[in-house]
Amino acid sequence: MQHAIVRHDWTLSQVKELFEQPFNDLLFQAASVHRQNFKPNEVQISTLLSIKTGACPEDCKYCPQSGHYKTDLERERLMEVEKVIEQAKLAKDKGATRFCMGAAWSDPKDRDMPYIEQMVKGVKELGLETCMTLGMLDNHKAHALKSAGLDYYNHNLDTSAEYYEQIITTRTYQDRLDTIDHVRDAGMKVCSGGIVGMGEEAKDRFGLLMSLANLPQQPESVPINMLVKVKGTPLENVDDLDHFEFIRTIAVARIMMPKSYVRLSAGRTAMNEQMQSMCFFAGANSIFYGDKLLTTENPEADADMQLLKKLGMKPETHQDYSDEAYEASLSSAIADKETAGLFYEAR
Ligand code: SF4
Repeated sequence: MQHAIVRHDWTLSQVKELFEQPFNDLLFQAASVHRQNFKPNEVQISTLLSIKTGACPEDCKYCPQSGHYKTDLERERLMEVEKVIEQAKLAKDKGATRFCMGAAWSDPKDRDMPYIEQMVKGVKELGLETCMTLGMLDNHKAHALKSAGLDYYNHNLDTSAEYYEQIITTRTYQDRLDTIDHVRDAGMKVCSGGIVGMGEEAKDRFGLLMSLANLPQQPESVPINMLVKVKGTPLENVDDLDHFEFIRTIAVARIMMPKSYVRLSAGRTAMNEQMQSMCFFAGANSIFYGDKLLTTENPEADADMQLLKKLGMKPETHQDYSDEAYEASLSSAIADKETAGLFYEAR
């Protein structure tokens, strides 16, 4: 089928056409592309830990971690390496195959690098894939992280190039593209997506997906976040995005980036089971797992496992993660609702 081909020459009007087709046609097309490229009943599971929280010098208007806004968030310094590795072990026991570590920085400083590199090495030794989101990266730091064993780097484009300045003024769209370039040059995989429901117009959602799909190499992971409105941030009172528009965004992302993992990310607490299921049908095949996403709520880990079971879906198998391990993880998740300290970044 023609849409399984990875294209880098999408135009805005072609993206609009995809978005605006009848809902069922769009879902059918997206589900078909999904089935051609992935096992349709498997979901990749990532866990995210905030390794340094709050007081970020950037002014992303959606983010409670920005030092520019007054939110109830408690600031935390860079976590100790051992504590990070403990959390990674817990995440692995709960079924995560990828461990993402997020720091609220504009960019990592030289003095932080030795700790960061130790974290990557320690988590990697557990047999987990490693991902970090630390802000902007220059070429040198990108290579250092790659040498430490980092598999993925997350750096979202957030929105369209046109709407971007309404959301962030402390760094440019081009800064973001440059960081993605450095990550690629160093040989790491890219995790990059955006946030919808920030008061943008439909054309900005088209533009975001077009920018992502038209990168020289499409990101291996594409997180699609629904804005979580946090009190004290400039977007706290923005209008809700219609849920069908969100599902359409997932479906179009799946069609345009057929080989990428499309991740249902922040905002899942506002989605009922039926909506999440529709997102899976539309091609979402990755979730963050744990009670918190950096600083915002996320469905409880056991609720996720139970939903997957209801749908006859299961976590993507990876290395030693067998069916038996899945069953054990499911029972343990149901028995133990506590998954402390797991957070998500909506960078
Ligand atoms: S999204 Fe990231 S870069 Fe932006 S303010 Fe929050 S922590 Fe800082």
